[in-house]
Amino acid sequence: MTRPDESDPSVAVVGGGAFGVTVAHDLAVRGASVTLYERGAVADGASGRAAGVCYDAYADRIDAAVGDRALKRFREFSGTGDFRFTDCPYVVLVRDGDDRRAEAVREGVARMREHDREVSLVDPDDLATEFPDLRTDDVALAAVARNAGYTDPGAYTAAMADAAREAGVEVREGTPARLRTGDGTGRDDTGSPRVETEAGSERYDAVCVAAGAHTRRVLADADLAVPLKPYRVQALVTDPDPVTDRVPMAYDATGGYYLRPREGGLLVGDGTEPVERDPDDWVRDADDWFVADCAGYLETALGRSYPVDRAWAGLCTATPDGHPLFGERAPGVFVAAGWQGHGFMRAPALAERMAEQVLGGEGIDAFDPNRFEGDEEFPIVEGMALD
Ligand SMILES: Cc1cc2nc3c(=O)[nH]c(=O)nc-3n(C[C@H](O)[C@H](O)[C@H](O)COP(=O)(O)OP(=O)(O)OC[C@H]3O[C@@H](n4cnc5c(N)ncnc54)[C@H](O)[C@@H]3O)c2cc1C
Repeated sequence: MTRPDESDPSVAVVGGGAFGVTVAHDLAVRGASVTLYERGAVADGASGRAAGVCYDAYADRIDAAVGDRALKRFREFSGTGDFRFTDCPYVVLVRDGDDRRAEAVREGVARMREHDREVSLVDPDDLATEFPDLRTDDVALAAVARNAGYTDPGAYTAAMADAAREAGVEVREGTPARLRTGDGTGRDDTGSPRVETEAGSERYDAVCVAAGAHTRRVLADADLAVPLKPYRVQALVTDPDPVTDRVPMAYDATGGYYLRPREGGLLVGDGTEPVERDPDDWVRDADDWFVADCAGYLETALGRSYPVDRAWAGLCTATPDGHPLFGERAPGVFVAAGWQGHGFMRAPALAERMAEQVLGGEGIDAFDPNRFEGDEEFPIVEGMALD
């Protein structure tokens, strides 16, 4: 970012999700003058609909480091406002006969251990001893990640938005923002990016676009193309049940669903539809098939059924290579999106990194948004899948 003078840099953040509020906070505490634009209310997007499963069990070195840093920040921030982070092991299971995914888990765990992650393969009998409420009779292979936990992503986002306000960020809710269009860079003829709202137009030294499923549209207003497809995923919560205090977080790689304890009940997720959705026109309720399938998942995972309290859908975003679009897309215009269903757990670490990048630090080459032309055709691949 270049600035004509030495005054505090002015930065606009577009999007009040977990990423947007964290980068706004982190920029403000580093001395920037920050305005955050949110079209609705803070956490109206995916961050208010997410499951809150967090871990550092990634085979990729950068992802593992990002997960580790994010967990540290979640733990440090826990206790702020209504935000609480609960440590809990994360178990990945492969069922009998699924040799392909068993091999993928073995290889993945070996790579995670190379990056010093606290992850190990566990014998199904030992798994049954540690977690007696998990059904393990047809488990072929299991891995347990110890550096993991869960939280309520909406509570995190609200608490971090408050922290951002306290740090001096001006949070403008109910304010849809547009990047200035016209010259292909999102910058006006004075050389600074500009944000337009119904109230008028303002220039900034830099703009961070973290608008979730709307990110491609926001950038397109400034003639900046990025390959990003919104897709629908689903989750539900069950009524409280005493057994759930004793279950870990778990991902059944064979069944393609995950679960975690939640307020005395369970949260169960899956229902990924690999279909591009219009971010302004999609079904927010869960599908009947998803709710019906969850009954089967819980029978498989825990050997019993649970009454469903409520179920919902939300939008995630996919990129051609499964890595985020993260960094400076054009001079002074930064983008952070394309999380493939893992954006909440990475937000504290990557937002911190983006704040540093906006103020002159290094980006992350593997996530550079300019690695694509922007008009690529690509299939949507679920972020958790081991295929
Ligand atoms: C059911 C479900 C379960 C999930 N579970 C997990 C999980 O367990 N762990 C995990 O890491 N991730 C999970 N995710 C993914 C996670 O929710 C997202 O990756 C993450 O919340 C993205 O945060 P964000 O701040 O980038 O985007 P968002 O939270 O989508 O925020 C973007 C914001 O931008 C606003 N906006 C859009 N356009 C404009 C505009 N023009 N002007 C101003 N504001 C605008 C929107 O209103 C929105 O509030 C899940 C997602 C869903 C739907």
